[in-house]
Amino acid sequence: MTAPEDTTPHTGKHAGKDSVEHAGEHADSQIAAILQQTKTIAVIGASDNWKRPSFYVMKYLLSQGYQIIPVNPRLAGQTILGQTCFESLADIPQQIDMVDIFRPASDCPDIVEQAISIGAKTVWMQIGIVSEVAASRATEAGLDVIMDKCPKIEHTRLSGLLGLGGFASGFLSSLRPAAPPVPPAKRDGGLFFSDKPETLSIHAGARPDAATGARQVPVYHTAAFAFDNTDHAASLYDLQQPGNIYGRLSNPTTAVLEQRLASLDSGIGACCVGSGHAAQMVALYPLMKPQAKIIASTRLYGGSITQFAFSFKKFGWDVAFVDVSDADAVKAACDDPDAALLFTESLANPDGNISDLEMLAEIAHARQLPLVVDNTMATPILCRPKDWGADLVLYSTTKFLAGHGQALGGAVVDTGLYDWSNGRFDSLSMPDPAYHGISFAETFGPLGYITYCHASVLRDLGPVLSPHNAWLTLLGLETLPLRMRQHMENAEQVALFLSKHPKVETVSWAGLPASPYHGLAKKYLNIGAGSVFTFSVMGGIEAGMKLVEGCNLISHLANIGDTRSLIIHPASTTHRQLTSEQRQKAGLGDSTLRLSVGLEHADDIIHDLDSALARI
Ligand SMILES: *Cc1c(COP(=O)(O)O)cnc(C)c1O
Repeated sequence: MTAPEDTTPHTGKHAGKDSVEHAGEHADSQIAAILQQTKTIAVIGASDNWKRPSFYVMKYLLSQGYQIIPVNPRLAGQTILGQTCFESLADIPQQIDMVDIFRPASDCPDIVEQAISIGAKTVWMQIGIVSEVAASRATEAGLDVIMDKCPKIEHTRLSGLLGLGGFASGFLSSLRPAAPPVPPAKRDGGLFFSDKPETLSIHAGARPDAATGARQVPVYHTAAFAFDNTDHAASLYDLQQPGNIYGRLSNPTTAVLEQRLASLDSGIGACCVGSGHAAQMVALYPLMKPQAKIIASTRLYGGSITQFAFSFKKFGWDVAFVDVSDADAVKAACDDPDAALLFTESLANPDGNISDLEMLAEIAHARQLPLVVDNTMATPILCRPKDWGADLVLYSTTKFLAGHGQALGGAVVDTGLYDWSNGRFDSLSMPDPAYHGISFAETFGPLGYITYCHASVLRDLGPVLSPHNAWLTLLGLETLPLRMRQHMENAEQVALFLSKHPKVETVSWAGLPASPYHGLAKKYLNIGAGSVFTFSVMGGIEAGMKLVEGCNLISHLANIGDTRSLIIHPASTTHRQLTSEQRQKAGLGDSTLRLSVGLEHADDIIHDLDSALARI
C-alpha cells in the first residue's frame, strides 16, 4: 500500500504523557513560540478525505489564520480546502516556516533533508511519528523539532480555546486573549506557569474576557451559540473546529471550571457534569459495554455502591466488589477477562479508609486496565491521584471543591497517563457511526477520551452542569487550598477531643496513630487525614439518634464538605434499610455517626459535640 497520505493510525505509542504534562513547561514555551512565529505550514501527506486527521488539522489551522500548503503527489495541482496541492516541498514557490509530517517515521529522514534545503524553520512530526534520526539531523541543521504531537491539539490547548470542553492550557495569564486566538503573547519574555494549587485554583482556565475585559469569569446563560455561517456550523458538527454548539455539549463558563480542575490534578482535560453520580456515569460510559465489568472497592460511598450494583446493571454493566486492601483479591478480580477498569476512592466516604493507590495502579496497569479514582473527599489539595498512577480522577464538586453547599456538580479529569488508542475500548478506538466513522483516539489523540465525553456522552445522555452552578463552583474553588488547611486543623482538634471522650467508643479519623490507615494517610494525604470521619458512642441506636438531636450548631443533613459542620446518623437515615448485621459489614455500627468538620471555630464545634454527648 503506497498511498502517499496520512494512512498511519495514531496508535502504537503512548503519546499522552509527555505531550501535555506539567513538566513540559519548557516544551510548552517552545511550542507556543513556534506556533506564534509560524505563518506558513506545508502539510506532508495531506489528505483530501475529510475524515483523515490531516484534513482536520489543515482545516483547523486555516481557521486560525495560518497559510496551509498541502503536499501530496497524488493530488498535485488539485486543491484541498481551497489550497493548491504540490508534489513535493521543492516545488513550493514560497517560503515555508513549518513542515508538518503525516507520513511514517521511515519517510522522515528524507523529508527532513528537503525541509533543510528549502530553509524551513521547524519540522513537526504528528502523534505516533517518532524518528530520532530525522530529529537529530534537523536539530543539527538548526531547525526546531517537535515529535509525536499534533499542532491542532497543541494550538487548541495553548491558546486556551474554550470550545467543547476544558483542556488544561498549562499556562496562566492576566492578559486578555487576542482575537482570533493565538498562543499567548509573551510579556517580559515568558509564559507564566505554576503548579501551585493556591495559584491554579484562582487563575487556571480564566483570562480576562476577550470581548469586555471582565476579570471575573462571565456566566454564559445561554442554551445555544450562533454559527458564523454554514461552513462554520458544519465544521463544529464534524468536530473539525473547537467551539460551542449547544449547551448540552459545552458551555464557556463550564469550560473554565474544566480547565481549572484539570490543572489542579495536573491532567490534560476535564468534563464537568450535573452531579458526582453523573460524573461516574459519564466517566465509565466510554469504557463500558454490556457484560463488561467494573472492579470496584467494597468501601465506596454508599450511593456509588447502589448506582453500580443496581442502576448500572440495567445498562448490562456488571460489577465485582473487592476489598482493595487485599492485593491478591484485587489481582484475581482484575484477571477477569471482562474487567474494564478498577474503581476506588482515594479517601473513602464515610469512614476515611485510604486506598493504596500506587499498588492498585500497578495491578490495574499490568492488565492494561485504567485506574479510576473518586477523589471527592481528599480533593487535589490532600492527594493528587495522578502522582500515584491514576488514569481518571472523579469528583462530586458538590462537596469540598465548591465548599459552600450551594450547587451540585461533578467532574471527570483525564490525567493523560492512559493510552486510549490501545484498542481496549471500542467507543474510543473504533469508527464512531454517530460521527461519520471517525475514531476519537485517532482523530483527537490524547484528547480523545475527554472529547468523547462531551461530544458523545453528554450529547446523548444529557447530564449537563448548569453554567450558573459551574460559576458557583468556580467561586468556591478559589479558596479551596485555604479552606482545606482550616478543615484539617479543625478536624484534628475535633478528632482528638472525641477520641478522649469517655462516651465515645471509636473514632475513624486516620490521623490518629491507632487508625489502621495511619500509615497510608502519611503516604497519600498531604496536609491532613481529611475532615470527614465516623465515630461511635456508647448506648446503641438510641444514643446515636439522641446525639444528632442534641446538636445545635452542627447541622443534621446528608452532605459533606461544607463550610458548616454537618452530622448524620446512618443507622436511622442512609443505612436504615439494612439490618444491624449488614450495617456492621458496611463498617457502620448502630451508634455510628458521620461528621463533616466545617470551618467554624474548633472550640465551638467541640462545645456543641460536648453538650450533645452530655445529653445521651
Ligand atoms: C457525594 C459523593 C458522590 C456523589 O456525588 P453527588 O454530587 O451527590 O452526585 C460520589 N462520591 C463520593 C465520595 C461522594 O461523597
